[in-house]
Amino acid sequence: MSDKISWDVIVIGGGPAGSTTARYLAEGGVDVLVIDGRDPIGSPLQCGELVPTNEEMQRLCPKVPDIDDLLRTPEHAISLKTSEMHLVPPSGKPLRYNFEGYMLNRVAHDEALVDLAKSRGAKYLVNSRVDSIEGNTIKLRGGKELNAKIIVGAGGHNDPLRRTFWNESSLKIPVKFVLMDGDFGDAVELHFGSMAPGGYAWMFPKKSGANIGVGIQNKFSKNKNINELSNDFISRYGGDITFSGAGSLPMSGTIKTFVKGNYVLVGDSAGMVLPSNGAGITIAMIGGRIAGQVISEHLKDGTSLSEYEKRWNKQMGKVMRNSKRAFFLGSFVLRLPDWMINTMFNRLTKFMVWRFITCRNVFVIF
Ligand SMILES: Cc1cc2nc3c(=O)[nH]c(=O)nc-3n(C[C@H](O)[C@H](O)[C@H](O)COP(=O)(O)OP(=O)(O)OC[C@H]3O[C@@H](n4cnc5c(N)ncnc54)[C@H](O)[C@@H]3O)c2cc1C
Repeated sequence: MSDKISWDVIVIGGGPAGSTTARYLAEGGVDVLVIDGRDPIGSPLQCGELVPTNEEMQRLCPKVPDIDDLLRTPEHAISLKTSEMHLVPPSGKPLRYNFEGYMLNRVAHDEALVDLAKSRGAKYLVNSRVDSIEGNTIKLRGGKELNAKIIVGAGGHNDPLRRTFWNESSLKIPVKFVLMDGDFGDAVELHFGSMAPGGYAWMFPKKSGANIGVGIQNKFSKNKNINELSNDFISRYGGDITFSGAGSLPMSGTIKTFVKGNYVLVGDSAGMVLPSNGAGITIAMIGGRIAGQVISEHLKDGTSLSEYEKRWNKQMGKVMRNSKRAFFLGSFVLRLPDWMINTMFNRLTKFMVWRFITCRNVFVIF
């Protein structure tokens, strides 16, 4: 990067949200710098690594246009293509569904997003943490200061812009996971019940091995903490652990407003995770595209930044509302004793359970 101090837009964080925002800003001719504390961006891994295929995304989010332009997952970032999802109650007897997904190599996936944004003209400053933001000035750890007309907070669940200028709090659920060697088939599994109070556990197979983890709501887990629960669940599987990771997922859904003056939030920092299934990668990218396009229109012809929220609501409002509702209901149901959850996962409820996971209205058939 040059020694340039003043930019049209500075994006804090170069994950899926930040790099996608930067890509569309650069495509709109905007002078944009992405600052990320990591080097390389995306590493170390903090993810279950599952995303729907583009076709599946189109079914899940029917109002989102041009999915293929947005989601260009390169082959080298895909570890395995999956065709089934199993939703597994404590009894271990799964409900089986068709589900076309990609198990990613998430680090390669995020690197590809950085390369795509760079190829459009976005600039990156890595290994640099943002310490504070004041007015149009961003202060980096070490004291360096940079300025921008618009500042985008894409720093994930602990984004500094969100932390400093928004008081709205989000429920964050702790998550622990491992990568394990072995052969795990090609169906992704989500497990529900006392092994993951208020959340779920997963086994997502990769080309060789699997990504296995647990996310819980602490307030529903009286006897065991996330370490004990994740150890218990992971020990059901027999392979060698090659990596252990942890993180936190915002599960309240989107916050009320993504824009304050010349500050804009996108991705996890704006709550763009579907709470009923924990999907955040592709959702952050949907938000990133809208944010990038609206900010570049704003700089060119004065389009109001609030247009970002309007377009988001048009494309994702219904999906997010259904997902929040399903999560609220699920938080109640998934606290019930295991034997009751077992009885709820049956042939008659199979259709409803799927609508719940895929963010459709559970009670209305349309
Ligand atoms: C354990 C786990 C498993 C998950 N599994 C899945 C899954 O299987 N599928 C799915 O779709 N989603 C999953 N998610 C959610 C998904 O990872 C997030 O929703 C997604 O990464 C959000 O993208 P983002 O760009 O908003 O944030 P992030 O990917 O978190 O990127 C934020 C970036 O900002 C940088 N940053 C933060 N603070 C600063 C600072 N002060 N200065 C400079 N840089 C900063 C970070 O270094 C990081 O690179 C999972 C999350 C976790 C924690």
